[in-house]
Amino acid sequence: MPQDQDTLTTLIDVPAARARLLVVDDQPINIQVMNQIFSDQYQVFMATGGQQALDFCRRTPPDLVLLDIVMPGMDGYEVCAALKAAPDTRDIPVIFVTAHTDASQETRGLEAGAVDFISKPVNPAVVRARVKTQLTLKRQSDLMRRLVFMDGLTGVFNRRYFDQQLMTEMARAVRAHKPLALIMLDVDFFKRFNDHYGHQAGDDCLRQVAQTLSETLRRPADLVARYGGEEFACILPETEFEQAMGLARDLELNIRDKAIRHADSDVAPVVTISLGVAGFAASTSGDPTTLLALADAQLYQAKNSGRGCVRGQQLP
Ligand code: GH3
Ligand code: MG
Ligand code: MG
Repeated sequence: MPQDQDTLTTLIDVPAARARLLVVDDQPINIQVMNQIFSDQYQVFMATGGQQALDFCRRTPPDLVLLDIVMPGMDGYEVCAALKAAPDTRDIPVIFVTAHTDASQETRGLEAGAVDFISKPVNPAVVRARVKTQLTLKRQSDLMRRLVFMDGLTGVFNRRYFDQQLMTEMARAVRAHKPLALIMLDVDFFKRFNDHYGHQAGDDCLRQVAQTLSETLRRPADLVARYGGEEFACILPETEFEQAMGLARDLELNIRDKAIRHADSDVAPVVTISLGVAGFAASTSGDPTTLLALADAQLYQAKNSGRGCVRGQQLP
């Protein structure tokens, strides 16, 4: 399938953003040494304590952590174990950098989940080479993960990822007592579009729809997925129902504004979508399946109300 190949090629050819390294060491002089070694190639960030390092990783995950073992308060083993215990940070590779190089320390570090071990004082050439190796592995595994969860035609996430994330986000919303919204949408009279313009044009249309959705939903936590055929689904964490309704209307307008000709539609001379919104208010319990069913029912309402419109409801 040529279109899958295109997406794959684009993905691999995208120039890698400058990798981000986090150097954690209670001695500023050691951080400075690392900064001198790496600042020309990578973005180098620093933390002088374990808690500070964890906060940084949760907020803005780096591509690699260079971690000192002996630090006052939380030591390197604890930091590493905490990183490996949380889903959001467990894929960040950790290299221990330490003056203690006995086998038991090294074993303990590797058991805590580190990928490598470097002894101080560091040899610049060695540490550069080892970091490069780990960054390459990280990029490859990120790419693999992305391919497994990516829709080959449109480049947005696939249904497998959507289902997984919906469960995760619902659990998070309940735990943090935050709202959550879901938008399901479907291209109007798409069968006729294919019949009129051909399957290839249909595929192009789906790509444009996916791109418009991604461009409109701008928060980093927002997620756009192709749910199946010409149906898409969006997860909007920490979003109130009324906000989600507003975003759904934006999506509807932005797709119209793309002005993709659709001579055979009863709605407009251009491609339109119908949308169903389901809102979950902060609560002590919530069920992803119920939320999904509600969004789907609202999408059905939108179809029955003439298409090219938004319908929504908040979970009672
Ligand atoms: P409605 O407005 O009620 O949604 O009508 P519709 O024609 O859009 O819905 P229907 O479910 O009858 O038809 C969906 C069409 O979408 C039929 C199918 O061939 C087409 N389709 C599904 N997946 C793809 C795809 O990957 N590429 C293309 N080109 N067409 C697809
Ligand atoms: Mg349709
Ligand atoms: Mg459909």
